[in-house]
Amino acid sequence: MLNIILFGAPGAGKGTQSKELVKKYELAYISTGDILRKEMAEETALGLKAKDVINRGELLSDDLIIEIIEKAVEQAGAKGILFDGFPRTVAQAESLEKLLEHHSRHLSLVLSLEVPREELVERMLKRAKIEGRADDTEEVIQNRFREYEAKTKPVADFYQKQGVLHSVVGTGAVEEVFRRLTAEIDKVKQ
Ligand code: AMP
Repeated sequence: MLNIILFGAPGAGKGTQSKELVKKYELAYISTGDILRKEMAEETALGLKAKDVINRGELLSDDLIIEIIEKAVEQAGAKGILFDGFPRTVAQAESLEKLLEHHSRHLSLVLSLEVPREELVERMLKRAKIEGRADDTEEVIQNRFREYEAKTKPVADFYQKQGVLHSVVGTGAVEEVFRRLTAEIDKVKQ
């Protein structure tokens, strides 16, 4: 059973690649960002709590996120899982370790999409125009990068030390990046 984390800075292409990876490997898809946007659209208590934090480009509290993940992992049933946008802090990564162990799941690999900063900003501003995401304005984008550098980047070191981090060049055509990702997954699968 494959359990994969797709890791990368905001705008690295995690969402785009996830859609195709989930299809190819028949995985359950867990995106904390998608779950939160759905809660916001439905104006649930969680959605209302999350809205201001997300629109400032900050991270939600680990406790809230872990609660969401616990539910989502339970709902995944017997399928392998692709995590997108989680874990974003070392505390979240440590909680995930315990959660996977509790469910007798094994983390197969962490794929890290590497894209230069200038291209990330360009991609996000473009997405802001297309999708109209409230957290894709220039000021919020800067905040999201600040949060990424301070809190999320250490997660890559955490997995590097465990020997499960696979870096993949995230620039070029979407199909080309997809091929690079699947090559890494297939190495681990064999
Ligand atoms: P995303 O679509 O993954 O870029 O997530 C959008 C926003 O949701 C982020 O900028 C955070 O404010 C929040 N968020 C999503 N996932 C997490 C997480 N694992 N930890 C904390 N905040 C998160």
